[in-house]
Amino acid sequence: MKRIETAPVLPPLYARWMDALLGESVPHEPRATCDDCAMCAPAGAAEPSTLYFSPRVKCCTYHARLPNFPAGRATLERRIDGGVGVTPLGLVQSAAYGLLYEHGAAGFGRAESMRCPHYLEEGGGRCGIWRHRNGVCATWFCKHERGAVGLAFWERLRDLLMAVEADLAAWCVLECGLDADAMGVVFAFRRKPEERELLSSADLDGKADPKATRKLWGTWLGREREFYRECAERVEPLTWKDVLRISGPVVAARARVARQAFESLLRGERPARLTTGAFQIVSSGHEGVRVVGYAGTDPLDLAPGVLEVLPYFDGRPTAEALGAIRRELGIRVEKDLVRKLADFQILIPPSQRSHP
Ligand code: SF4
Ligand code: SF4
Repeated sequence: MKRIETAPVLPPLYARWMDALLGESVPHEPRATCDDCAMCAPAGAAEPSTLYFSPRVKCCTYHARLPNFPAGRATLERRIDGGVGVTPLGLVQSAAYGLLYEHGAAGFGRAESMRCPHYLEEGGGRCGIWRHRNGVCATWFCKHERGAVGLAFWERLRDLLMAVEADLAAWCVLECGLDADAMGVVFAFRRKPEERELLSSADLDGKADPKATRKLWGTWLGREREFYRECAERVEPLTWKDVLRISGPVVAARARVARQAFESLLRGERPARLTTGAFQIVSSGHEGVRVVGYAGTDPLDLAPGVLEVLPYFDGRPTAEALGAIRRELGIRVEKDLVRKLADFQILIPPSQRSHP
């Protein structure tokens, strides 16, 4: 995976829609330095262990589901031609991979058997469909400038983009005139999105099942690349207003939620009252301590003495806590530090505390 700092954060099509929704571009996450992966072991460190991601996969231990409208790229066309998980709604994970993924949390960032088919090893590892990656990939970062506030925003944006992808993919199927029998298969209700109760031998061997493929594609059979191209051509010129008109109420609702999360991200106010959160000290030394609050991939380094002031945040008004620290310890705690501690959930509003 590779991000280029000066490029828009989101794929161009999504950036255009989200700019229209939010009124401005979403910010970068500069500490997620994908070119020189922030989660891989620094030079000279021990081999990748539980602490680090493997440079051979980074965070791409995920077979990306793609809607039917990303434009052609070599890895995409290879995947379409392979026929596994190729449906009129888009490219889905194979049934066997779905099982692996469901039970493979420990392999995140490390297991090469789970690596995305669009991951290219060249150039230190990059995404082969960067400008067309899906909403999940576009919104995932290992580190967030605003900690949990940033994570919450990106998760709301991910949910919105996933709903947009689902609705536009269904719209494309209708627009492209898939025949009714095939549509019956494509839109059949399933208890689990991906699937069947038992894996077939084709599933286990990672091969396409010709009978199932025929049923899925109907009169479009054999013209899958053309189908995806036609979908991309229909979606590419859509404005955000068009997307809202075509999509259902879930997209409208998630758009509202994403806007609110964006406003919180921009506001950055200091909570009126704070108390200590449930954080972990992962290392300590002369230079301070490293703590993990809202996410294991995003620890926070604190200067010596910061831990000492935390007990003063006991739910009383934040201004009072700061005054007491100044009087009793002679330490002036900067506003920015308090906000950072709150963003990383080292300090939390008392209402979020789950224990007495
Ligand atoms: S783990 Fe972080 S820095 Fe590395 S590729 Fe993924 S998002 Fe980028
Ligand atoms: S689509 Fe790209 S960013 Fe997403 S998992 Fe695959 S290689 Fe990584």
